[in-house]
Amino acid sequence: MTFEELGLLPELLKAVSDAGYTEPTPIQAQAIPVVIAGKDVMGGAQTGTGKTAGFVLPLLQRLARHASTSPSPARHPVRALILTPTRELAMQVHESVQTYGKYVPLRDLVVYGGVDIKPQTEALRKGVEIVVATPGRLLDHVQQKSVNFNSVEVLVLDEADRMLDMGFIPDIKRILAMLPKERQSLLFSATFSEEIKKLADSMLKAPVLIEVARRNAVTETVTHRMHPVAQDHKRQLLAHILKTSSLQQVLVFVGTKFGASRLAVYLDKQGIEATAIHGDKSQQQRTEALEAFKSGKARVLVATDVAARGLDIDDLPHVINYELPHVPEDYVHRIGRTGRAGKEGDATSLVCPEERGKLAEIEKLIKRPIEQVLVQGFEPGPDFDAAADRGRRGRGGAGRSERGESSREKSAAPRREPRGRSDETRDRPARRVEPAKPKLPKLDFDPSKPYEPKVSPQGTATPEPKRAHHRPKRAVPALLGGGPKADSEKS
Ligand code: AMP
Repeated sequence: MTFEELGLLPELLKAVSDAGYTEPTPIQAQAIPVVIAGKDVMGGAQTGTGKTAGFVLPLLQRLARHASTSPSPARHPVRALILTPTRELAMQVHESVQTYGKYVPLRDLVVYGGVDIKPQTEALRKGVEIVVATPGRLLDHVQQKSVNFNSVEVLVLDEADRMLDMGFIPDIKRILAMLPKERQSLLFSATFSEEIKKLADSMLKAPVLIEVARRNAVTETVTHRMHPVAQDHKRQLLAHILKTSSLQQVLVFVGTKFGASRLAVYLDKQGIEATAIHGDKSQQQRTEALEAFKSGKARVLVATDVAARGLDIDDLPHVINYELPHVPEDYVHRIGRTGRAGKEGDATSLVCPEERGKLAEIEKLIKRPIEQVLVQGFEPGPDFDAAADRGRRGRGGAGRSERGESSREKSAAPRREPRGRSDETRDRPARRVEPAKPKLPKLDFDPSKPYEPKVSPQGTATPEPKRAHHRPKRAVPALLGGGPKADSEKS
């Protein structure tokens, strides 16, 4: 399959070729013709699959007929609205609009909070056809009457599941109510909960379901390993790994915003260039952190799951889970950044006794045991297995609360080097510890299954198999330090 065969305009083909793409990704091959045909889409795909070009290219094609060089604002009404949950994603999608649309004279704008609203207002007043926005700031513009939706032809809701997690659905509904009924709507989501399906029902007309497998189905090139370690020694172990290896561009995941900043400062003090990205950082700081990481100025980017979501970092070779995620699926999202396009990648997890239950859930999800490797001088002690049982029985007990730091971490930041620490990391295989078997949610997909595209031929969404479990609601707002409105990642 080639981009030419998808029926794209020469201006778009040229932009795609400039971007260096030789063939469409599976989601692009499926979505582009459907969107060009003007149909609604319910897309099951996450960042990294090429989904952005999958909707931006056909959207540009549909709007190309409106391209006008007239300076009159009346000739540039908002025709397409792309909503994203985070500022970073909004910026990235906007970049894609500019990249793919560079030979199509349509105006585009990105609108998000945390920055001065005035330049956005001015740009909106001058007229702009494609607006990429986070919902909160867009509603600010609605209130200011700087934006009018009467001419909107296409609506895209990107990462709808994150919108839900972040409490944006009421805002989305308010925006939907203002749009013309006659329009094309595209909804993309990595997961389809009942709530997302309800939202899809309310905004999509006879949608075509387009799905690509989650990335864990294709990341066979990723090496997974875990180092058992006491909670109190985690940061020394991390510094040790970074100092004794030549790993470059390492994305380190932590559970809390506070933890992210603190860890980056610690690593810096250890002589390891690190920067953090999370919801309490200003937009400027987040952009700078990302730039520093991408350019190689910072060797390590410490991130929370939410802040890292949607980051477009190609071919990231190393992911370290300083803390395991609360929801096992997030492990898949995290490691999805490595081992792309058949390249080698590795995912290392530092697992303290209290996290053994989470580890077992992850192993079950990815359907493979994760190799356990003890690092000499950082062994967790004999209570590792016993604590795992405690951790499984009472997750709240000695574990980490989602809202903040664990009691253990608060009171016991490591003050001493661990016993018998050697300067060399001498890995040796740990005794095989049988993965624990907690009661696990049933998955609505088979993570070991190879990629299988699925487009409903009738042009209707195939109902998702009913989930037999209630997936624990992600406490994303809590992670961000408050209720949905207090969340600084919102705008
Ligand atoms: P996305 O899932 O849209 O965030 O895209 C992930 C990455 O894939 C981005 O860096 C894109 O530039 C890149 N990409 C998108 N489409 C293609 C393609 N057809 N071939 C190669 N890379 C692509």
